[in-house]
Amino acid sequence: MNKKKLSELKSLLSLPTAPFREQYIIEHVVSVLSKSKVPFFKDPCGNIVIGVSSVGQYKKLVQRPSREPVRLFIAHMDHPGFHGIKWLKNRNLLVKWFGGSPVKYVSGAKVSVFGNDNNACLYGKIIRPKLVTKKWAIDTAEIRFDPGQIEYKNRPRPPELFGSFKFTRPVTVRGKRLYTNAVDDLCGVFVILQTAITSFKATSRKEKPFLGLLTRAEEVGFVGAVAHFDLGWLHQAQRNVVCISLEASRTLPGARLGKGPVVRIGDRRTVFSANELKVLSDLAEKVLPGKHQKRIMDGGACEATAATVFGLPAIGISLPLGNYHNQGFEGGPECRGPGGPAPEFVHLDDIQGEIKLCRSLMRTGLDWRQPWKKQKKLLLENKKYYAKYMK
Ligand SMILES: [Zn+2]
Repeated sequence: MNKKKLSELKSLLSLPTAPFREQYIIEHVVSVLSKSKVPFFKDPCGNIVIGVSSVGQYKKLVQRPSREPVRLFIAHMDHPGFHGIKWLKNRNLLVKWFGGSPVKYVSGAKVSVFGNDNNACLYGKIIRPKLVTKKWAIDTAEIRFDPGQIEYKNRPRPPELFGSFKFTRPVTVRGKRLYTNAVDDLCGVFVILQTAITSFKATSRKEKPFLGLLTRAEEVGFVGAVAHFDLGWLHQAQRNVVCISLEASRTLPGARLGKGPVVRIGDRRTVFSANELKVLSDLAEKVLPGKHQKRIMDGGACEATAATVFGLPAIGISLPLGNYHNQGFEGGPECRGPGGPAPEFVHLDDIQGEIKLCRSLMRTGLDWRQPWKKQKKLLLENKKYYAKYMK
C-alpha cells in the first residue's frame, strides 16, 4: 500500500465510532466522496449510499434492464462500543455496551469517550463491568474519568457521550501489521471508498453498475442494512443486484493473516449464493493467484446474511482479523491478558488484495449469467467417458 493511501486509511481508523454513533465516520466519508466527486446520498435511516446522488437515481439504476448486475458493496461504519446512560452519585458515568466485547481483564481498561463536540475526547477507565446473561459481552459498566477530565458542573448530557477502548495510539503499524481499535469494519468502509473513487475516476460518463452501502449499527443485528433493504427500493429491480459484504472476520484455520483476502463461502448463519460465489472465486484465481484464501468464516455473521434474508444474492470478502472485537485471542501489543481488551489487527497486503479484487469485480463481461458453463461441459465429457460402464 502506498504512503498516501496508508495515511488516508489511518485518518479514517483514528475516528471514533459505536453502534448508532457513526457521525464522525459519516463526516469523513462525506468529505472524501465530495472531494473525489463521487455521487452519494444519505438514505432515510442514515446509511450512506454511494454511486448515485438520489433515491430516484438509485431506483433508475436498478430498474434499468441490463445483463450487467449492479454490484452493491456493503460495509458497516460502526464497531462495538458504549453509550452514556446517566451520571451516578459517585460522579462516574453509567454506560451501556452495544455489540461484542472482551469479557476478561475488562475492569481497569482505559477508554476514550467522545461527545458531539469534535475536540472533546475524554479519558477514563472501566470499572464494575456487568456482563450480559450469556456472558459473551459487557452489558453495562461505569466509567471513572481521569482527574481533570470532567468539569462536573458543566458535564455533558449522558446520551451525547459514547466511546470504546483506548490504546496508546489510534493506529500503530508494525511491519505490515496494522493495530487499531476498529479494523472491523472501517477497513471495509475504506475499501468501498477506494473502489468507488476508482470506478468514478474513469473517463467514461457511462452509468456504472456500482452501489456502495455504508451502514449503521451492524454490530447489534445488521440494523442499518435491514432498515435499508426494508425500504423496498430493490423490490422492483429489473436486473440482478449482487450484494458483496466486505468484513473483517476472526482468523481461523485456513484464513490466515497476510495470506490474502478471503473469498467468504458463508458466515455463522448461512452459506452464500453459489452462482455469484463462483464468479468471485474464479476472479480471485485470476487476479490474486496464490494470494487469496477461500473458506467459510463462521466466527461471526455479516451483512450478506441480512441480504440473503431479503432474497438478494449475496457473497462476501473478508479480511483475516486478529483480536476480533478487541478480544485478545492472538495477543500482541497492549493486550491486557488472554482474551482481554486489545487492539484489533490486520495485514496491509490483505487490504491491498481486497481493493484489487473489488476493483476487478467491476469489470464488465464477467460470467454472471452462466458461471458454471465450463464445469458443466467437463462433467458432461466425464459422463460420456464412463458411458460404457453405465450399460
Ligand atoms: Zn463487522
